Amino acid sequence: MRSAAPRILLVEDDEDDYLIACGLLMEAGRSTAGVEWVRSVPDALAALARGGHDIVLVDHFLGSDNGLDLLRRARTEGLRGSFVFLTGSSDPALDEEAVRAGASDYLVKGQITPALLDRVLRHALERARMEEARRESEQRFRLVADATPALLYVTDAERRGVFYNRTWLDFRGRTEAQEAGEGWMEGIHPDDAPRLRAEMAGILARRERYRLEYRLRRHDGEYRWVLDSGMPRHVPTGDFAGFAGSLLDITDRKRDEEELARARDAALEASRLKSQFLANVSHEIRTPMNGIVGMSGLLLDTRLAPEQREIVEIVQKSADSLLTVINDILDFSRIESGKLRMDAAEFDLRTLVEDTLALLAERASEKRLELVCDIPPGLCAVLRGDPGRLRQILLNLVGNAVKFTERGEIVVRVERIAETAGALEFRVAVADTGVGIGPQDQLRLFQPFVQVDGSSTRRFGGTGLGLAISRQLVEQMGGRISVRSEPGRGSVFTVELSLPRVGIVLSPDTASPPPVPVLLVEPHDASRRVISDMLAFLGLRAEACADIGAARTALRAATEAGRPFAVVLLDRMLAETDLADLFGGERPARLVLLTRPGALGGAEAARAAGVDAFVVKPPRLHQLRQCLHEMLDPASGVKKAAFAGTAADASPSPLRMLVVEDNAVNQRVAQHHLARLGHVCDVVENGARALEALAARRYDLVLLDCQMPVMDGFETVRRIRAGLAPGVDARQPIVAVTASATEDDRRRCLEAGMDDFISKPIRADELRAVLARRDVRDSAGPALDPARVARLLALSQEADAVPIEDLVRVFAVETPRRVLGLEQALAAGDASAALALARVLRDSAEKFGAARLAARASALESRLSAIPPALDEAARLVPALRPDFERALAALSHLVVPSLLAHP
Ligand code: ADP
Repeated sequence: MRSAAPRILLVEDDEDDYLIACGLLMEAGRSTAGVEWVRSVPDALAALARGGHDIVLVDHFLGSDNGLDLLRRARTEGLRGSFVFLTGSSDPALDEEAVRAGASDYLVKGQITPALLDRVLRHALERARMEEARRESEQRFRLVADATPALLYVTDAERRGVFYNRTWLDFRGRTEAQEAGEGWMEGIHPDDAPRLRAEMAGILARRERYRLEYRLRRHDGEYRWVLDSGMPRHVPTGDFAGFAGSLLDITDRKRDEEELARARDAALEASRLKSQFLANVSHEIRTPMNGIVGMSGLLLDTRLAPEQREIVEIVQKSADSLLTVINDILDFSRIESGKLRMDAAEFDLRTLVEDTLALLAERASEKRLELVCDIPPGLCAVLRGDPGRLRQILLNLVGNAVKFTERGEIVVRVERIAETAGALEFRVAVADTGVGIGPQDQLRLFQPFVQVDGSSTRRFGGTGLGLAISRQLVEQMGGRISVRSEPGRGSVFTVELSLPRVGIVLSPDTASPPPVPVLLVEPHDASRRVISDMLAFLGLRAEACADIGAARTALRAATEAGRPFAVVLLDRMLAETDLADLFGGERPARLVLLTRPGALGGAEAARAAGVDAFVVKPPRLHQLRQCLHEMLDPASGVKKAAFAGTAADASPSPLRMLVVEDNAVNQRVAQHHLARLGHVCDVVENGARALEALAARRYDLVLLDCQMPVMDGFETVRRIRAGLAPGVDARQPIVAVTASATEDDRRRCLEAGMDDFISKPIRADELRAVLARRDVRDSAGPALDPARVARLLALSQEADAVPIEDLVRVFAVETPRRVLGLEQALAAGDASAALALARVLRDSAEKFGAARLAARASALESRLSAIPPALDEAARLVPALRPDFERALAALSHLVVPSLLAHP
């Protein structure tokens, strides 16, 4: 936007020169209308102050004043106008100086042509416009800079202040001059100054963006926290010029943060207290509950009228469900507070699922529900994970299925999804034919405290925490849980997990039972399919039918064909009529009854009626194998009744036990159970007394309560293990009795040095399991490495693994041969043959966990591999090999079928 004529201030004390200038202007085609003429510097300043001039045409010499002065004063006073000097060419240096001082150009009087004048004026005008634009931009910047709430600054390359905005100066209550350079730094809090100096040195070296926090004094003397963020700035040539940055007052934010942190600490403390409280309360509730459960258990063992028995049973059931609720709440609060730790233990998937179902089989059978365990017989997987938690999830899902199903079946199916060398991805689906769940409710199901509020739910009770806990557990294991359901038809809960596999699989070379024809009579479709699969997998030629009529026909046909069935497996439901004439004239050679748990009461009668063995439903693969193997193995000679799934109540050899327990009720419960299992026990009430008792006599096992006055269980076991208890064997077998049921507490027990644990209230079956575990270890003695043996056992229970009895048999036959070979090689002085045999011996001894034998063989190896071989020393070691072997074999034989020793 160009104005028509530039407004020119002509400063000239000589009137002639003024007229000449006007003439030139007119010759240059410019109007002289916009020209204002003044004669002196003061007049010129006054005219410029009024404003509106684009160009100042000024003579160098104005009487006593000069044009250069005018230029300088106009600049300091911020007056606008582009200066063009008129000179007499007397002194070129003067002209140069004028240009340096900011003049746009100069014209030498007498040499001015109209064209030159025109060009110079144009140029000057352009400059005036640019300056105006710059001034405006500067003003805008100032306006913005001063209006922002941030404290702005610009520094030079040494980070000395060169610019501050109004906000900064107001905040500090100081002038720009005071703050300039390092002036501002006097405001830094003395506590922050050393740190800040160090940080700034780094920033100067790096010349990068930065953020600093420090306290800066405000005009009122208060130190405020500021966040100083800056970035490097560069001159147009690209050279580093310093920093530009801003400060924000973050005092309030800091205060909020501190308050938040305080509030968080308080909340954490409160949550810790809550957990503590829950643990305490659960312990407090548990103690009387132990009394109720334990005592009602004792009562049930006495002679009671039917009505009384019913009442006591209700008491016990109620106490049981109350304990479940307490455990749920405790678990949930632990998960909520992120305290849950996952175990990384090795476990066999099949055994875990089978064991879990066994726990619920009785409840299912009471409701006449068919519980089916459908695991592909070929699936064998030793996995690493948290078996306790996995069991908990399954218990909850299958427990719910039993709870919410009135008739029909519950099928637990394990399927492989994908398999890699390192991991098994699998699915466990729990399907029921129960009440089902509507679509709306399915969405909320896995949230805490949600129950589908039907009358059936109210009837069955529950906390609504089970599925929430299960989901959390599954997710912590990296898996997923989901549900499909149709009201009135049933539900399928599915858990998908991927767990690392461990475990080597021994290749099968001997099938367990001989491949004889067997007949399965099973009315239930799913069970018939699953059991048929198992039988086929075990190498039997199995035929299956659904009812007695069909069974009779099949039996008759087989007899007529001259290939009678060697075994008939019969579901107990069908046998509820008279067993004796069940098959009419077609008596099978052997009869195995597939029975319900808890239905073994009529065992004697059944045996009298011709039943050879029982297998509890749902059958476990290895039980089925063992049962059939024992029944059909021609080597065992006599027909043996195998009561798979039932453990004889009294253990073969009575143990002397020490019960350490302060609570009189619990003392009685423990005493009672141990007596029933055929053991003898002494009772003391605290750890100190226990140490005295242990020093006085030998006990096979100590049942040690964890929480006791005077000396608690942890301290007691610590002293014993550290050898600090005089007269007490540091390896004394000890089983902890813990009040709290959480995995963490159990872990704590094992870490403290306990051999095993059992949770209160003590129950007969749990106690029996613990004692059975001890039994294996004790009889193994030092001749066996229990970890190895346990592994061997686990592996041999795999579906297609060689049965342990076969492995042990090989060990039993081969080892004496090798020892003999060793003796002969040594007698012949053949060190290398002897060395080879010693190696083989050590190898197989290690595999079977025969620790002492392995150590002895290894000693032999080192004598024989010496240079020269120490043959004499080696020969001295050989005689000890046999007793080592005998001991190991004796210990191993406890683990396998009793017929073993007759065979080598
Ligand atoms: P709880 O059983 O302790 O109440 P859960 O979280 O285990 O808590 O289950 C929540 C609810 O989900 C149950 O109350 C029931 O209404 C419903 N539910 C769970 N499993 C089933 C099932 N298999 N069939 C029908 N309803 C079920």
